Amino acid sequence: MTHELSPTAATEPLDLVIRDADVLACFDDAGTELAGGWLAIDDGVIVGLGDRTTTPPAAREVVDARGCVVLPGLVNAHQHLYQNLTRAYAPAEQVESLTDWFWTYFTAWARLDADAAAISTTVGLAELALSGCTTSADHLYLHPEPALMDAQIEAARAVGLRFSPVRGSMTIGPDDGGVCPPGLVERLDAVLDETARLVAEYHDPSPDSFVRVGVGPSTLMSSSADAMVESRRLAEALDVRLHSHVADDPDEEAFVRARYGRRPLEVFEDLGWLSDRTWLAHVVYPDEREVAMLAATGVSVAHCPSMTMIDGGLPGGPPPIRPMLDAGVNVGIGCDGATAADHQSLWLETKLAMLLSRQREGRATAMSARDALRMATRGGARALGREGEIGQLSIGANGDVSVWRVDTLPYAGVLADPITGLMQCGPAWAWHTVVGGRFVVRDGQLRTVDVPRSLERHRRASERIQLGR
Ligand SMILES: [Zn+2]
Repeated sequence: MTHELSPTAATEPLDLVIRDADVLACFDDAGTELAGGWLAIDDGVIVGLGDRTTTPPAAREVVDARGCVVLPGLVNAHQHLYQNLTRAYAPAEQVESLTDWFWTYFTAWARLDADAAAISTTVGLAELALSGCTTSADHLYLHPEPALMDAQIEAARAVGLRFSPVRGSMTIGPDDGGVCPPGLVERLDAVLDETARLVAEYHDPSPDSFVRVGVGPSTLMSSSADAMVESRRLAEALDVRLHSHVADDPDEEAFVRARYGRRPLEVFEDLGWLSDRTWLAHVVYPDEREVAMLAATGVSVAHCPSMTMIDGGLPGGPPPIRPMLDAGVNVGIGCDGATAADHQSLWLETKLAMLLSRQREGRATAMSARDALRMATRGGARALGREGEIGQLSIGANGDVSVWRVDTLPYAGVLADPITGLMQCGPAWAWHTVVGGRFVVRDGQLRTVDVPRSLERHRRASERIQLGR
């Protein structure tokens, strides 16, 4: 199968051609895979694709991808970047329940400042870029200082990834029956005003946007029904995405049943949240009716495999991702915060999604490497409201590409299918990560971040957050 150059491609040399890939998997509607594949990017956008039977156009820069698999840049659908300041902070045996977890970590996180928000964003996005990610969501739901998201957005621009930061919030503390520590409870009107300011200042709806701001009360355990409804109305009025956590833990289920007399997803339904504007993190234990409801309303799910495993012993076992996909629910993949995953490799979460599904479903209905990668690309793009713009290699889409060497030690013996090999072998790190035609990672090295300096600054911030000094 071949693809011609876009008629809009200039006769002048193009900006970038990546050529001679062992396989270039487009993750377009047809599932196109191009042997000996090439793609051309000009002015940040993909303008040509082809296989070994066609000759790529001239370009100012030509990258040899022999021995490589070429994929769309991965899309991280759920994240709390600030949490990498507290990696492996509380040993698991000290955190017996979700409520314990909240209180243990919130003590440290209440010290978050703008410098810490910025450097945790730099370090987290850098690690994501090394794992082939070109777009990341982030959900910052505690704001002990103003302007933390301004600092994050500036940091994300410097790293060069596309960024979908969600202005999260917590509005009910213990006095109102919620789990948010009193010092972190925000007034709803202030939350809404600040969210509107961030959207006005930073949100860019254009197809090649680098910043899309969303609205996101944290959970039903820390956000009032009023906050959920008013946040949803604000997202509708501003035409931005809507995000939250739901159905992630037995503690949450018990809390919501006691407060509302309904299951968590039923409460989201009652509050008018179930629409294609919404994407929800976790959704670990939906029943059949709820799966059908998610499919019918167009809600997307951000599946975070490590979080479900680190939480341990969920009553229903791994989440029913295969049944959700079969029912037509859009599912993306997220790393979640470092307290859940303690790493920010989207490649690893994608592999874990594949394995966790196989553990639940068995081989007969196995999730393939391609199924998992489709969630990590197309699924994430749709969750962030960016279908057609990112998450696929097709003419007119943004030039967001991940290139993976499969001629190295972990892949020795992979002959039949390099895409399955990429996901079953590893560990894998991207050889190149290209965002809008620009190299963020090249030859396995970050090109936009000074790693030693960033790590030193991150260590100082972690000490402030964890040790209070
Ligand atoms: Zn989360």
